[in-house]
Amino acid sequence: MLMDNALAVEPDELRERMEGTVVAPHDPTWDEVRAAWNLAVDQRPALVAIPQSAADVVAIVAFARARGLRVAPQGTGHNASAIASLDRTVLVKTSALRDVEIEPAARRARVGAGVLWAEVTGPASEHGLAPLAGSSPDVGVVGYTLGGGLSWLSRRHGLAANSVLAIELVTADGRLVRCDRDTEPELFWALRGGGGSFGVVTAIEFVLYPAPQVYAGAMLWPWEQATDVLKRYVEWCRTAPDAISTSARLLQVPPLPDIPEGLRGRQFVAIDGAYLGDPEAGAAVLAPLRALEPEIDMFAPIPAAALSHIHMDPEQPVPGHGDGMVLGELTPAAIETLVAVAGPGSRSPLLAVELRQLGGAIGVPPAEHGALAKIGGAFALFAVGMAMTPDMGAAVEAHVGRVIEAMDPWDAGRRYLNFTERQADASAFFPEGTLRRLQAVKRAVDPGDVFCSNHPVPVAD
Ligand SMILES: Cc1cc2nc3c(=O)[nH]c(=O)nc-3n(C[C@H](O)[C@H](O)[C@H](O)COP(=O)(O)OP(=O)(O)OC[C@H]3O[C@@H](n4cnc5c(N)ncnc54)[C@H](O)[C@@H]3O)c2cc1C
Repeated sequence: MLMDNALAVEPDELRERMEGTVVAPHDPTWDEVRAAWNLAVDQRPALVAIPQSAADVVAIVAFARARGLRVAPQGTGHNASAIASLDRTVLVKTSALRDVEIEPAARRARVGAGVLWAEVTGPASEHGLAPLAGSSPDVGVVGYTLGGGLSWLSRRHGLAANSVLAIELVTADGRLVRCDRDTEPELFWALRGGGGSFGVVTAIEFVLYPAPQVYAGAMLWPWEQATDVLKRYVEWCRTAPDAISTSARLLQVPPLPDIPEGLRGRQFVAIDGAYLGDPEAGAAVLAPLRALEPEIDMFAPIPAAALSHIHMDPEQPVPGHGDGMVLGELTPAAIETLVAVAGPGSRSPLLAVELRQLGGAIGVPPAEHGALAKIGGAFALFAVGMAMTPDMGAAVEAHVGRVIEAMDPWDAGRRYLNFTERQADASAFFPEGTLRRLQAVKRAVDPGDVFCSNHPVPVAD
C-alpha cells in the first residue's frame, strides 16, 4: 500500500534511467536512507534518489518535472530542520558524488556535491594549503558554501562563498550548467550565499589558501568565570588581528564515556580558534587570554587538517535543535544577559551557546563577491542542544528560543543562513536589493519553483 506522500507512478521508471539508487517508502532501506544528519528531523519525501553522476541528476530533475514533483538537494542534512515540507518532493542525496581533485600549484580544489569538509582539508593540508572549511569535519562542502561559509580562516580570507571559482549544477529545465564569473554570471552570483534554491549543484571549485603554519586549539575555564572571561574576550576581540578567528562558548559537556575525563559532564566557558602564522606570533596574540589562567589550554601548532577537530563538533549524525542570530555588539549588559540565560544558575539544557567572532574580512565585501558579500556585526550566535528524547528536544527548542529572545536587544538585524536552523523568511537573510536580485535569478532559472531548499528564495514577493 502506498503512503500519502508516495507517487502514483512506480519509481522503477526513474531507476531505469539512473546509474544510482532510488528508494521508495515501501523499500526495506527507506528509514535509513531518508534520515538526515540531524536525527531529530523526520524527513518524509515522496522518494529518495542517490545519483552517481551529473547525468543521474539530469534524469531525476526530468522525472520529477514530468510528474509535477519538487526536487530537494541535500548533502548531509545538517540543516534539514529548516526545510518546510518534503511533500511531493524527491529528496536528492548527493552522498555518492564524492570526487576530490586538489591542484596544489594552482591552489584550487574541485569536489563533487557529496564531499565533506574533512575530505578536502586532509589532502589540502599535505600541500600546506587549506580551504575555507567550517568547524566541523562532516559538514558538506556544497551546502555550507552556498549558505556563506564561516571558517577559522574567514577573518583573514572572507566567506567561503566568495572564494568559489566555478559551480556546476542541473537547473530546472534539465540543463547541466557550468557557471563562473564569465558564464551565467548572475546565477553564479546567486549561488554564492543565496542558498540551494537554484538547482542541484553537482560540483564546485574553490580557492585553497596557504596555511603552512597554524597555531590553534582551545582554552577552557570553569563556567563560573563566564562573565569575567567573556568580558575580557570581547575587549580582546576589538584589537585582535585578522590572522586569528575565534569563538567563545558556554559549554555543557555531556557525560558520555568517550569524552576525556577532565571534560566529561563538566561546564565551561571556552575560547577556541586558529591563528594563521608562526606559533610565537600566535602565542603573543593570545597572551591576554592566557593571562586569565585557563584551567585547560590546548592551543598548539597543528597541521591545517586538524582545524576540523578543535571545536569538538559531533562527527557523526546526532539529534539536536539549534538556531542562531547575528549580534551587532556585545556590551557588558549583553554578556550578563547571555550568562544569565545560558550560564551558571540558568538551568539551561543546551550543549552550547556560541559566539563566533566576526569582523576582519568577514565584514568587508571583497571586490568580486556573490549574494552574501559580507556578514556585518560583531558575533554570530548559535545556541544548540541535544534532543535524545522528545521531552529533551522540546526543552532544548524552548530554551534556544529563550536565548534568542533574551539577546534581541543586540540583534544586528540580519540572520546568517547557515546558522539558522528554523524556518525564516528570506528577507531575514538579505538586504532588500539583494533579495530582489536573487528573486530575479530564481524566476529566470526556476520559475515553477521546482527546487526545495532549506531557506528558499521565493519566486514572487
Ligand atoms: C556541527 C555543525 C557545525 C557547523 N559549523 C559551521 C561553521 O563552522 N561555519 C558555517 O558557516 N556553518 C557551520 N554549520 C552550518 C552548516 O554550514 C549548515 O548546516 C549547512 O547548511 C550544512 O550544509 P550540508 O550540505 O552539510 O547540509 P544540508 O542540510 O545537506 O544542506 C543544507 C542546504 O544546502 C542546500 N544544498 C546542499 N547540497 C546542495 C546541492 N548539491 N545543490 C543545491 N543545494 C544544496 C540545500 O538547500 C540544503 O537544504 C555547522 C552546522 C553544524 C550542525
